[in-house]
Amino acid sequence: MRESQRIKLLKAGIGKAQKSSNRRQYKCIQSGCSEKAIKSHSQQKKCQLESISENLYVYSVDKGLYNIFSDKPREILVKKTITESSRYKGYCNAHDTDIFLKIENNNLDISNDFHNYLLLLRCISYEFANKRDAYLRQVDILNQVGDLFSNEGRMNYEGSGYGLKMFLEIDAPYYFLRLNEIKDTEDYSQVRFNSFEIDKNLGVSCSTCFSPLMEEHGEWMSQNIDSIQPFVSMSIIPSKEKTLVSFCWLAEFDEFCDKIRDIDIKQDNFIHILNMLAFTQSEDTCVTPSLWEQLTQYEKTTIYQQMGTSDSLINATNIPLVMQM
Ligand SMILES: [Zn+2]
Repeated sequence: MRESQRIKLLKAGIGKAQKSSNRRQYKCIQSGCSEKAIKSHSQQKKCQLESISENLYVYSVDKGLYNIFSDKPREILVKKTITESSRYKGYCNAHDTDIFLKIENNNLDISNDFHNYLLLLRCISYEFANKRDAYLRQVDILNQVGDLFSNEGRMNYEGSGYGLKMFLEIDAPYYFLRLNEIKDTEDYSQVRFNSFEIDKNLGVSCSTCFSPLMEEHGEWMSQNIDSIQPFVSMSIIPSKEKTLVSFCWLAEFDEFCDKIRDIDIKQDNFIHILNMLAFTQSEDTCVTPSLWEQLTQYEKTTIYQQMGTSDSLINATNIPLVMQM
């Protein structure tokens, strides 16, 4: 087969998988609920996303695979309405409204342990739903056009799929089980957090989960294959006059979270760390358009290149600053 023909067939297969992924429906994540999951916002549209939008637009990550073979350099952050941004198929309408009510409409208190519990739950719900989508889409792609991959390409692709599958089948069920237990016993001290209030709108909104082991995560995993992966959630919640930031984790991951607990708003590289985590560890970051557009193409490309890598906190200064104190 000619290379051009191969690419054409690959594109068609990926397009098809993307379409069925967009149409795929799920049940609500809440255990016992059989309602259909709606497209929830992992970041509240009113107040939160609105506060960083311009004409109701923000820049956010383009998750589609359509332009994967485009000749143009791919822009990962694209301009979207706040309605289209930060959505995930997680909860039914009733649960999405009820569960998170306490932390919406500027009512979030980042020193309150129940509120931090809700932030953690929201981040992990988003992570789970997103990875579930990605995994099923990948299975589709391999079924349809797996034969067109090079051997090495297929192996890498299947490897990343295996990671997603393990997360969905082993890690995520454990996290949800623990979060349910905490809710049932109301022992919210089982959620540890380190949170900050910054007295300006930083123009960035995000919710994400990442490994507190950072660049050591891969090695730790290979030595602890049977262990649950430790994780930390980070929420950046802007509003008109301030930005709230909270890192949350389950008590059993305490021993891995020293570096996260030590993050201090007074340290010199605080804003560097925030930028690094928001732009390299999150697929859910939304940015004020004028803030993003003022970056040079070189700065944007530097950020794109670092996305998804487990960078260390020490290297945080290498990331161009989108948020500034
Ligand atoms: Zn429900």
